[in-house]
Amino acid sequence: MTVSMPSSVDETLRLLSDDPAATILAGGTDAMVEINYEHRRPASVVSLRRVNELATWSIDGGTVRLGATVPYVEIMNSELAAASPGLAQASRTVGSSQIRNTGTVGGNLATGSPAGDTIPVLAALDAIVEIASVRGIREVAVVDLIVGVKRTVLEPDELIVAIRFPVASGPQEFLKIGPRNAMVISVASCALVINQAERSVACALGSVSPAPLRCGDAEEFAAANIDWTSDGIRITDPRTLETFGSMVADAASPIDDHRSTAAYRKHGIAVMARRALTRATTS
Ligand SMILES: Cc1cc2nc3c(=O)[nH]c(=O)nc-3n(C[C@H](O)[C@H](O)[C@H](O)COP(=O)(O)OP(=O)(O)OC[C@H]3O[C@@H](n4cnc5c(N)ncnc54)[C@H](O)[C@@H]3O)c2cc1C
Repeated sequence: MTVSMPSSVDETLRLLSDDPAATILAGGTDAMVEINYEHRRPASVVSLRRVNELATWSIDGGTVRLGATVPYVEIMNSELAAASPGLAQASRTVGSSQIRNTGTVGGNLATGSPAGDTIPVLAALDAIVEIASVRGIREVAVVDLIVGVKRTVLEPDELIVAIRFPVASGPQEFLKIGPRNAMVISVASCALVINQAERSVACALGSVSPAPLRCGDAEEFAAANIDWTSDGIRITDPRTLETFGSMVADAASPIDDHRSTAAYRKHGIAVMARRALTRATTS
């Protein structure tokens, strides 16, 4: 196996263009599991470890630009946590501290698992993914990046360079359930993003559909039933919370598998959606 260690995005793109079958290695927390279990036997690997420009982030004019290899621990412990509280909450739930020290959002997106914890948050944020190749840069919405279970629109020679999304303008919540409290792949997850300036609500789900899922009807219902005031947002009729939970669960299309039943997932989604809206409107 050959391992390349480029030090710039341009060099990485040239390597991928010359050898599109090469495996990109970021934190390695998904890729090395596949290699160790021999589900993948790459002849060549392109490591992103020395590509410093991918590991930087910025906040500019109300937009966060997150480099593809910024690790979870940085999202949790920097100014990013205030700019994107939902993503910080999701990052805190990923694996163990070892995984959070090395795992990246770019890797989470490129793996494209329905259980990827950053994906519902980024879908609710209407995040845009910057994808580079020697042909140039293209931009794809997170909801369009992942088209099925571990299937993305990425070409073999393409590299995720960054993810862009708006700075928080209101409460954000991420909740997930699994068989235990830590080191757990989501059985179901729910992200809620409220934009006070636009008076909009976005809700997206994980582990209950092959690709990222937004809950349009429930979002519109919540936005119409929130009491938007200049000093905060409130729900005046408690039945709104129950109805919102049911509508979000209706949007899910879960399956029975080795982790859970579809019925439990639906139930969990209703509880999490209700809880997320409760927290967002009482904080
Ligand atoms: C013990 C353990 C616990 C875990 N717990 C969770 C959890 O709770 N929640 C969760 O969501 N995930 C979890 N994971 C999965 C994994 O940690 C995450 O998906 C992580 O974000 C992957 O990022 P990475 O940088 O390690 O990706 P890598 O393993 O390096 O790469 C993953 C895939 O993406 C490709 N890739 C990586 N970067 C790019 C890029 N910039 N452009 C294009 N393709 C790229 C690689 O070629 C590979 O196919 C866990 C994994 C382990 C081993």
